[in-house]
Amino acid sequence: MGEGASKDMAEDCVFCRIVRGELPSQKVWESDKVLAFRDIHPVAPVHVLVIPKEHIAGIEGAREDHASLLGELLLAAQNVAEKEGLKDGYRLVINQGTHGRQTVAHLHLHVLGGRLLGAMG
Ligand code: AMP
Ligand code: ZN
Repeated sequence: MGEGASKDMAEDCVFCRIVRGELPSQKVWESDKVLAFRDIHPVAPVHVLVIPKEHIAGIEGAREDHASLLGELLLAAQNVAEKEGLKDGYRLVINQGTHGRQTVAHLHLHVLGGRLLGAMG
């Protein structure tokens, strides 16, 4: 996919619109490249989404040159967990594609915590 196509997709992308301030969000943490905000339909007492400000369609859309950004996402999630007081632990989830039940095509990490979570699967 060319640069232009990915920019067109970013126009309509709900998370890009949040990054641009066109849609409201409950911001939890931010750096120059990463934004964390509360999930609109939380499935745990703490449910925060951590996203790159740059539009990447999913983990499958990440490339070699995104390596340091991917690291920043994980460290941002760690910051969010600390800020939210998740001292007893938490879960980080990335859904990819249909079988992963990905519903928003902009890479995001779910930070889930605040209760004992169920088994995976
Ligand atoms: P996924 O199923 O992994 O693609 O997760 C997408 C998540 O984004 C879901 O948990 C939605 O509840 C959440 N979501 C969708 N739109 C918004 C929004 N405008 N603000 C906050 N969270 C959202
Ligand atoms: Zn986007």
